[in-house]
Amino acid sequence: MEELSVDYVVIGSGPAGQKAAIQAAKLGKSVIVIERDSALGGASLNSGTIPSKSLRESILDLTDFYKRSFYGQERECKKVSINDLNFRLNKILEGLRSAILRQFEKNNIRWISGSARFENPHHLIVLDCSHQPIAQIRFSSCLIATGSKPRNPIYVPFDRKRVLDSTRLLSIDHVPETMIVLGGGIIGSEYASFFAALGTEVTVVDKRDRLLPLLDAEIGLHLQKALSSLGLKVLGNREPEKIEKKEDCVKVTFKDGSFLEAEMLLYALGREANVDSLQIEKIGVTLSPQGYIPVNDLFQTSMPHVYAAGDVIGGPSLASTSMEQGRLAARHAFGAPTHHFPTFYPIGIYTIPEISSCGYTEDQLKALDFRYEIGRAYYYEIAKNQMIGNDPGMFKILFHAETLEILGVHIIGRAATELIHIGQVAMSFNARIDYFVDQIFNYPTFAEGYRIAALNGMNKVKHKK
Ligand SMILES: Cc1cc2nc3c(=O)[nH]c(=O)nc-3n(C[C@H](O)[C@H](O)[C@H](O)COP(=O)(O)OP(=O)(O)OC[C@H]3O[C@@H](n4cnc5c(N)ncnc54)[C@H](O)[C@@H]3O)c2cc1C
Repeated sequence: MEELSVDYVVIGSGPAGQKAAIQAAKLGKSVIVIERDSALGGASLNSGTIPSKSLRESILDLTDFYKRSFYGQERECKKVSINDLNFRLNKILEGLRSAILRQFEKNNIRWISGSARFENPHHLIVLDCSHQPIAQIRFSSCLIATGSKPRNPIYVPFDRKRVLDSTRLLSIDHVPETMIVLGGGIIGSEYASFFAALGTEVTVVDKRDRLLPLLDAEIGLHLQKALSSLGLKVLGNREPEKIEKKEDCVKVTFKDGSFLEAEMLLYALGREANVDSLQIEKIGVTLSPQGYIPVNDLFQTSMPHVYAAGDVIGGPSLASTSMEQGRLAARHAFGAPTHHFPTFYPIGIYTIPEISSCGYTEDQLKALDFRYEIGRAYYYEIAKNQMIGNDPGMFKILFHAETLEILGVHIIGRAATELIHIGQVAMSFNARIDYFVDQIFNYPTFAEGYRIAALNGMNKVKHKK
């Protein structure tokens, strides 16, 4: 067994682990990353963010999705095979995996393939796939970035054909005619819209009465409308009781006695932290009741030299936020100047159409008793949108009715996940809504929506005065 001693050990090579490892190396520290999966990159690269977003791009391209509104019926739902989709995905994965390897090499970061488990607060052991110890590592500081996996309750008969979670979904061999998606959260809603765009008859079922309750309610309504025009059905207020595999379908019976059958089922009801194999109790760290690793604002566990970041600490559970948590944790571990994790950060939801938001929702402002006003711009008012497909969408800017400070930006429609960053930057400089009125925007662009929404908002304030 190899015996090693380093400044920093990172367990997990997902977004949190990668950014932490690179940051520590840039601070001149010796770094080892341990990864139990056969490929680097974490759930983000291998089963989550990148596969799902790559599939989305392929689906939009290969089905001529954005051409349908211009070129009529014959353009509707061009048939696309799973092989077509996977061809592009594999190329993307190859490119991104080699980019991580290059970064690790350039920064002198060693990675060891195996599963890490703690021995005591300054030692861990790496086990190979047959559970044999291959290395013992002594470290000064450590980051647990072991991420999360889909929740797989025992009553669900998962396989790789009919009853799927978001990881198993990546091994299907054909596009189903019909699909049930259990769970109207981000992952469920995204995949439901992708399959609807492929021509699958999709029904999303959730115990709440609408999809994505984290959204500003008005944006949520727009989403619901856009999804039903894709043919997607949403059934609210229903909880599954039994899931059975039949010969050629899967049947879900709900607690109210109703049932649904479909060719495939995507079970998207939650994820759980990857902590079972860490033997975390050996370093005196106790998990939260939900099974996550509790940390303070600086990402320290109850053992101050052991940090945790990313999905393993619970929400927001995004690749984007995990990266920054990992970087901040590594900076703090080695005494580099650092800032706190920002209060407001963008959330990108890649449904078709996509959504992004930053800051308060209207309901939150009401609850806080803020005096706010709203500037709206609809995508049909935006010339660029008319030119490339006339898809539905809107900008909604919430701002303080007296100080005019921007309090929240919510966008649904094409390029929303890119456009949000203009609003995010403006908010981080405490900009007022009239800032957008006084700027020239390239024309025609989607970004012009900010100016249209700001003018709309300013008109409402003027009329009130
Ligand atoms: C379908 C889907 C779509 C998503 N889409 C988006 C999106 O569009 N945008 C976005 O920002 N986020 C998205 N996410 C969320 C994002 O993927 C996660 O938030 C992110 O991967 C978390 O990063 P992480 O570094 O914490 O962990 P992970 O990426 O989960 O990586 C953890 C790594 O640790 C390894 N590991 C675990 N235990 C051990 C051990 N004992 N020893 C060694 N290695 C270990 C695992 O093998 C894994 O490789 C999506 C997730 C899913 C599932």
